[in-house]
Amino acid sequence: MSIVTKLTQSISSLSKNRTQLLVVTKTQSIETIEPLLAEGHRIFGENRVQEALSKWPSLKHRYPDIELHLIGPLQTNKLKQAVALFDVIETVDRAELAEKLAKELKHTDKKLRCYIQINTGEEPQKAGIHPSEASAFITYCQEELSLPIEGLMCIPPVSEDPALHFALLKKLALQHHLPQLSMGMSNDYMTAIQFGATYVRIGSAIFGERMRG
Ligand SMILES: *Cc1c(COP(=O)(O)O)cnc(C)c1O
Repeated sequence: MSIVTKLTQSISSLSKNRTQLLVVTKTQSIETIEPLLAEGHRIFGENRVQEALSKWPSLKHRYPDIELHLIGPLQTNKLKQAVALFDVIETVDRAELAEKLAKELKHTDKKLRCYIQINTGEEPQKAGIHPSEASAFITYCQEELSLPIEGLMCIPPVSEDPALHFALLKKLALQHHLPQLSMGMSNDYMTAIQFGATYVRIGSAIFGERMRG
């Protein structure tokens, strides 16, 4: 049994089927991804639009039920391409992006889903909405822009206990009745499952450590 199949099973049983495995394929080649598709895995994440464009259009053509998530920052000059390629954009992290996304979605019949990235650790170098501004931003996206916001995502600071961050994200999602919570990576996905993650984003626990990324 492959590592992805094993992880899928352990995540399902730990979470009572509430959490899904999102396989993070940044820096991985098409040749590495194909066997995962062949064994039935369909949910994947990439953090760079350009890199995703070099791999996923052909794969999606062959496997139309792939669910591809953008989990890295989105520059507005790549927005059109990102909307066309991805099924979920997890990294809505500023008003300018939200406004341009809303505008683009008016011109397409693409059924895109969006999550808002929350900078739960309030780290200056990290993208995401400051927790104190999260409620107002979520409401703005939903009510003023009619963006299809389905959930929240966060990347906790490396040096802190992730539980506090997952709890905060969960609380915000509950307040706004958002069903999806993308949280937890290779090192902390067990904790994220305990806090109600609906997606855990896992790369290195599957593929080994990356050279970059
Ligand atoms: C790379 C990445 C992951 C996967 O991290 P691992 O520690 O390799 O599991 C998850 N989320 C985001 C946003 C990433 O960029």
